[in-house]
Amino acid sequence: MSSDNQHNIIIMGGGAAGLALASKLGRRFRRSDSVSVTLIDQQLTHIWKPLLHEVAAGSFDPNVNEISFLAQAKRCGFRFRLGALSAIDRANKKIVLAPIFDVKDELLSNERHINYDTLVVAVGSVSNDFGVPGVGDHCLYLDTTQQAENFHKRLVQTYTQIFSSDSSVEERKLDVAIIGAGATGVELAAQLRQIADLLDSYMDITEQSVSISVRIIEGADRILPALPEYLSSATAKQLEKLEIEIYTGETVTEVTADAVYTKSGKQFPSNISVWAAGIKAPDLLQNCDGLEQNRINQLMVTGTLQATLDENIFAIGDCAACEWKDGKFIPPRAQSAHQQASHLARSLRLRIKGEPLPVFKYRDYGSLVSLGNYSTVGNLMGNAIKNVRVEGLIARIVYLSLYKMHQVSLFGYVRTALFTLSNIFRRSVHPEIKLH
Ligand SMILES: Cc1cc2nc3c(=O)[nH]c(=O)nc-3n(C[C@H](O)[C@H](O)[C@H](O)COP(=O)(O)OP(=O)(O)OC[C@H]3O[C@@H](n4cnc5c(N)ncnc54)[C@H](O)[C@@H]3O)c2cc1C
Repeated sequence: MSSDNQHNIIIMGGGAAGLALASKLGRRFRRSDSVSVTLIDQQLTHIWKPLLHEVAAGSFDPNVNEISFLAQAKRCGFRFRLGALSAIDRANKKIVLAPIFDVKDELLSNERHINYDTLVVAVGSVSNDFGVPGVGDHCLYLDTTQQAENFHKRLVQTYTQIFSSDSSVEERKLDVAIIGAGATGVELAAQLRQIADLLDSYMDITEQSVSISVRIIEGADRILPALPEYLSSATAKQLEKLEIEIYTGETVTEVTADAVYTKSGKQFPSNISVWAAGIKAPDLLQNCDGLEQNRINQLMVTGTLQATLDENIFAIGDCAACEWKDGKFIPPRAQSAHQQASHLARSLRLRIKGEPLPVFKYRDYGSLVSLGNYSTVGNLMGNAIKNVRVEGLIARIVYLSLYKMHQVSLFGYVRTALFTLSNIFRRSVHPEIKLH
């Protein structure tokens, strides 16, 4: 217990895992004098990360759909503090938050030190550029809402510039290169094709529109290398129908302002390059006072989700490395984050009572890949079914239900239903994509 006789639970990071956990614990302990729950995030709002490719494409408006941490804290009974984790002082059970500066670079808050009895690290992941030259300078990422919005602005601006120019029909070309054919890259590619069609419909086309070439460049020998092979081939067929070019077995060696180069000597022209080729936990986790980590900065945790070298620290979501089966680790996915948050909400209550903690068991319910309005493909797994392939409407409904489950964990059923209804009404009166 800390000096104020309260058990301080600090949750660092309000993403898919951290915000769900804070909401559940907040509701459980809101009237408790002996437990306080604090969520700390470097942003003021939350958006469910799997929606970022839709933000990038402009089909999902973050300003309407983001969740204010302060409002959620009031609703659920936890505290919220703005701040970015910069280090952990394990000996004194404190976290260090970086100083905060305003937009004019003026200091708003000094470095802060905050006590914890239980610390949950849920700071997610960022793109891993593996040190490839030019990526940092010339590629866009989809790690944050800001980055997804930047991508969208760049897409609309470049499209309208080319459209408005007096260049010849042949020169009216916009090349987009997506590096990495995991779910993020593939879903973004399909969204872009949808947006290209929509942009054309908004542009009052009298002669010839801008032709958008979308290319996916992947180092592995197939797209979606982490998912089952048939899912990969079903998705590749759909992408070919959408005229998206796929280049597998191509390791990117350099990115410049207008091209992507690969080891085999190929050069792909590119007005906009997006890097979606793998993740790592944020570099700041290297300042965790000697906690065990893997080569992509994830904190190594035991079956109870406690750090291997410190039982007062838990890690969940993308920043945690928890062994699963056959030497594999639990994949960095929204469903893992959701399940770990639910598990920890139960086990932290036991920890406070001094009882032994249960081991987390990850259930893989399958994978779904959304190809915008064109199709959704995937496989489902569960207690009653071993592995069922799904496509089309059923797959789409299950895909959308993942987000609904996240909303239910934050708001409950009634508010989630109201949000859904208000979104349906809003979509019926606004353009299908953001045009600015
Ligand atoms: C474009 C895209 C599409 C995806 N699509 C899918 C999909 O279809 N299905 C699927 O299962 N998964 C998908 N994922 C992966 C999924 O989004 C993640 O696995 C999931 O969000 C991980 O949850 P998390 O809570 O660990 O991290 P996040 O949801 O990323 O949350 C991390 C939080 O920590 C905060 N934070 C970070 N650093 C600090 C710091 N230093 N101090 C304070 N706060 C900090 C961030 O602001 C953020 O709020 C997708 C990811 C992306 C980027």
